[in-house]
Amino acid sequence: MDSISWRLKRTYKCGELRSKDAGKEVILNGWVHSIRKVGRVIFILLRDRSGIVQVVVTPKSQAFPAAKELDREFVIAVKGEVRLRPKNQVNPDMPTGEIEVAAHEIEVLNESKPLPLPIWDESLMSTTSEANRLRYRYLDLRREKVKNNILLRAKVVKAMRDFYTSKGFIEVETPYLGRSTPEGARDFLVPSRLHPRKFYALTQSPQLFKQLLMVAGLEKYFQVARCFRDEDPRADRQPEFTQFDMEISFVTREDVMSVVEESMKYVFREVLNIDLPTPFPRFTYEEAIERFGTDKPDLRFPSELHTLLEDGRLYLRYFKMKGLGKMCGTLQSKLKEAAKNFSLKGYGFRAVDLGSKECSEAMGVLPEDVKGVELEEGEGVVFAYGDFATASQFLGVLRNALGREAGIVKRNQYSFVWVTDFPLFEVDEETGRLISKHHPFTSPRPEDIPLLDKEPLKVKALSYDLVLNGYEVAGGSIRIHKRWLQEKMFSLMGLSKEEMIDRYGFLLEALEFGAPPHGGIAFGLDRLVAVMAGEDSIRDVIAFPKNKEMADPMTGSPAEAPPEYLKDLTWLKLT
Ligand code: ASP
Repeated sequence: MDSISWRLKRTYKCGELRSKDAGKEVILNGWVHSIRKVGRVIFILLRDRSGIVQVVVTPKSQAFPAAKELDREFVIAVKGEVRLRPKNQVNPDMPTGEIEVAAHEIEVLNESKPLPLPIWDESLMSTTSEANRLRYRYLDLRREKVKNNILLRAKVVKAMRDFYTSKGFIEVETPYLGRSTPEGARDFLVPSRLHPRKFYALTQSPQLFKQLLMVAGLEKYFQVARCFRDEDPRADRQPEFTQFDMEISFVTREDVMSVVEESMKYVFREVLNIDLPTPFPRFTYEEAIERFGTDKPDLRFPSELHTLLEDGRLYLRYFKMKGLGKMCGTLQSKLKEAAKNFSLKGYGFRAVDLGSKECSEAMGVLPEDVKGVELEEGEGVVFAYGDFATASQFLGVLRNALGREAGIVKRNQYSFVWVTDFPLFEVDEETGRLISKHHPFTSPRPEDIPLLDKEPLKVKALSYDLVLNGYEVAGGSIRIHKRWLQEKMFSLMGLSKEEMIDRYGFLLEALEFGAPPHGGIAFGLDRLVAVMAGEDSIRDVIAFPKNKEMADPMTGSPAEAPPEYLKDLTWLKLT
């Protein structure tokens, strides 16, 4: 019978052996990454988490009969002697490439069926469907690249924990089964068996709990928190994601921003050995829209937006960018695609390829003035004609997207920028009501309080977003710590007194028992790690992500509930 006991426990890890270990007797445990025969000699690449090492089995070795039976991804133990490879067999691309292990003994710890995923070949993997990768995620995670992303993530979390702990922050866990915390999304509801007709809401963020920890006097808090938001599927959205969440008492906005900068400096040095220049550049929301057309400017490229013409309510705006000359073939389709989401009077581009060949295209109405913009070889210009906000935002989308493709950003280039002073409110397109741009616990700037009643849309918030390479990686604010102001905020958003008390009575009450001034921020950990790993999708840095339909093909989640559970929920009328 197939035994579950085994003898050869490892004394070394595969990836740590070097030429100085030559002559040592070692035992390794790991997976057969690949196996090949050269003449009668068998070469095995043996892999564990630390890396890969070559094992050689000659026909004379006692291990030979076992080696002949091996296949990919068998789990084995190898006992053998480390020896230097012959000069002509040294592999400079492998950290263990100067040595190999001559096997004396092989013990098979477990076999593997033929793999449903070609994890041994990256070029085959690139054509494998994501559905299959997620269905066998535990195999996908064996790939070097995917494994490294998970290791990077662990390093980032550790560095964050180390940094904030060293600054006197304490880690506190807050409930996941909570009551609605409005972060602008739908709640995931969990029906309560013990309280008929009642539901828990999975927390969208620890926002209210962390504020209450400040009222409790804990002063400096952090948490690696899972957040749940039941939103419609969109590219790269996950129904659960992780925040590195923090909050501090007795601080101004400057204090929060400076500790965040220090923490990023620490993390990038520890994890990537990169020295980030601080302080990070800062723009107000208005400035960011005016100069870059977006509140998430990618500052790895310098192009700024300019106004060429202003007639009445119409603006002709543009940006120039190096590298666009090479993109003549695709510029038209990219502009057309982006324009679908904006109602502009006109838009267009002109670009000069090397050798001074020009390409251009104008769509809709574009004033003659566009001809006046001078271009150098290789450069291009994109125009938009419409109202200020629409023209700017259209250009902002293209600036970020084209900049990434124009071959003008360096690898490992990281560009942080703060965007501050967001409007406190925006108008909900469906209801026409005021809604908070960040969340309703964000403090207005003190100087704007007189505007709250008369011109609420002009009120700016004491808020700040941290943007990295065009992605928002953190967002936070100074909070409201007085009951009257919190009530005012709710009532401007259309909540009646009763609704306020029902939903947020506990918060309003707490604000009356000595709530200190406080503020904080939350990092989107998945996005931060994805940018650091050079990955476009956060799914690549999450061990077990959901697919684009918000489902998990491996476990089959979501799934129907077992009938015996539903019996306890008879009040829940299922149609
Ligand atoms: N709770 C906020 C969010 O999830 C972050 C914060 O204000 O600290 O975006």
